[in-house]
Amino acid sequence: MENNKGKVKDGVEGDGDGEDVDEIGLYEKAGAVAFEALKKGAKMAKPGVKLLEIAEKIEKGIVESGAGIGFPVNLSLNENAAHYTPKFDDDLAIGEKDVLKIDVGTHVEGYIGDCALTLDFSGENGKLVEAGANALEAAVAFIRPGKKTGEVGAVIEEEIRKLGFRPVENLTGHYLAKFKLHAGGEIPNVARAGGFEIEEGDVFAIEPFASTGAGYVAEAGLVEIFELIEKRPMRQREARKILDYAETRFRGLPFAERWLHSEFGSGLMMRSALRELVLSGSLHQYPVLHDKKGSLVSQSEYTVVVEKDGARILTK
Ligand code: MN
Ligand code: MN
Repeated sequence: MENNKGKVKDGVEGDGDGEDVDEIGLYEKAGAVAFEALKKGAKMAKPGVKLLEIAEKIEKGIVESGAGIGFPVNLSLNENAAHYTPKFDDDLAIGEKDVLKIDVGTHVEGYIGDCALTLDFSGENGKLVEAGANALEAAVAFIRPGKKTGEVGAVIEEEIRKLGFRPVENLTGHYLAKFKLHAGGEIPNVARAGGFEIEEGDVFAIEPFASTGAGYVAEAGLVEIFELIEKRPMRQREARKILDYAETRFRGLPFAERWLHSEFGSGLMMRSALRELVLSGSLHQYPVLHDKKGSLVSQSEYTVVVEKDGARILTK
């Protein structure tokens, strides 16, 4: 997934209990599982296949690998850039000419792997996919300790524009920390003055989005993904139970509404509780983000660790 919360770098060092833990080793494990899951999803994604079936298979595979799910599998089609995860009864299937982004997240003991790729089923949008993939490779090749995040954005923007597309300016990559998908600190997809200095040991996701549309995404009404922000006193008992569940089961990582159904059902009570939780500020919601109607967006994403001589890809 991506970041559009507009945070600045803060608290990236984690929660302070990591001194004796091989954090990079755990990131490596999470990254390897995420990449395998992504490949599995790409293999089964074909016109006619239902998105729900793909999401459930990928998520099941992650759990069977012994890792945790970092966030609900995002399967965003065409002008939808991010945050579409199927509803529990979703019938939507891939169309013959669709452009599909598969975005997968895992974690091992809270250390996250986040990666994405784009599939073009018509065969007519190869350049759009290439633009995002080129931008990602160029960013990885450019990154070194001492470079500024704004400079990475410039590299990404140049690669995408070179092939005639627009980078999506209000979606960014993001730093990762233990049980924090968006740890503060953005990797922009367009040139920005300054930013902050990249340091050895930093772990972040880089995720260029290339678009045939405006290069700017807006929020749709559709929301299937939520995340715990803070446990606040709730009027509805069901809402309190969902908060506890989000804390103990998902540990503050994003979750899908469909993941609540086995415990809370799919009825009015659950949905009304979710609404109260969002309105009270206990839960953050991730609406589907889309560019202009009829446009197409591609996404490519790796999680990397910054080493002395450059960035090493963890989701590969
Ligand atoms: Mn991401
Ligand atoms: Mn992602």
